[in-house]
Amino acid sequence: MTLEIRNVKKTFKNKTAVDSFSVVLQSGDCVGLIGPNGAGKSTLIKMIADIINPDTGEILLNGKKISLMKKEIGYLPQYPNFFPWMTAKETLMFMGKLSGLNRAVLTSTIPSILKKVGLSEEEDSKVGTFSGGMKQLLGIAQTLLHKPSLIIMDEPVSALDPIGRREVLNLIQEIKQETTILLSTHILGDAQEICERFIVIKNGLKIEDTTSTELLQRNSEDRLNIEITETDHKWVGIIGELPYVKGIEVIGNKLMVKMENLEANKNLLLGNALKHNVNILKFEVGNDTLEEIFLKLVVEK
Ligand code: ADP
Ligand code: MG
Repeated sequence: MTLEIRNVKKTFKNKTAVDSFSVVLQSGDCVGLIGPNGAGKSTLIKMIADIINPDTGEILLNGKKISLMKKEIGYLPQYPNFFPWMTAKETLMFMGKLSGLNRAVLTSTIPSILKKVGLSEEEDSKVGTFSGGMKQLLGIAQTLLHKPSLIIMDEPVSALDPIGRREVLNLIQEIKQETTILLSTHILGDAQEICERFIVIKNGLKIEDTTSTELLQRNSEDRLNIEITETDHKWVGIIGELPYVKGIEVIGNKLMVKMENLEANKNLLLGNALKHNVNILKFEVGNDTLEEIFLKLVVEK
């Protein structure tokens, strides 16, 4: 499976929702499409799902137009719609038929799919009685009906409570062993848990296509996080003069000290603290977390 998004653009009235967007996904990828609200995630995902057409550019699956390849794609919308009076089993039967699968095939596959998503015991319960998490599991079951090679999910866990979120993330973990996955979220932590590759979108533009490892390395700074007591603040002035201290940010009793050659000099700084009888409450090498890096990307670019 290869998905190619080539220079895609979509404008609503005078609002460009997605612009000059290109990306390639290969079999086995699990990609998080991350961006703040209004960034263009749903618009991009709907174009991949062939729900809406790009104004310019093209989307190809295995080299063929996406509209000819819909059977290869499972799509979970941001706000899936179910009929509350249908049971889980009836829902899958109904949706399967809508996407052109025949009854005999559905009758034989639906039980195993319900089992896979953990809803076997609820197969005859009405969807109206389901929790948000259960509805999302059912939504994922629906994407699996025709055994697609690519599953795209629009904010699959954003609206869920912690328990629902956990259930759905566990299921996605399992599915990604066998299927290529693209999921969108505005919460980095959700993507971080299951995807190694991130595509960051902002104002319709791709601003990053990278991996969590690379992002962390690129943004790692030689920095110490130090916590001292109120009475030791004069030490800040002292270390400000040290040749290997490049900068100090003070927030209350917390110091963020940018160091030159951290490995070689961190013990010197600790020695300096001891020499001046500074009461150290915390002394740690600190890098930005992915969340911090993401916020910087989204706010600054
Ligand atoms: P996201 O899913 O990242 O929150 P969307 O793709 O839903 O973002 O929206 C991107 C931008 O396009 C937003 O400014 C939104 O208001 C606009 N938009 C999306 N769909 C429509 C539409 N059908 N008509 C007009 N504007 C739209
Ligand atoms: Mg959206």
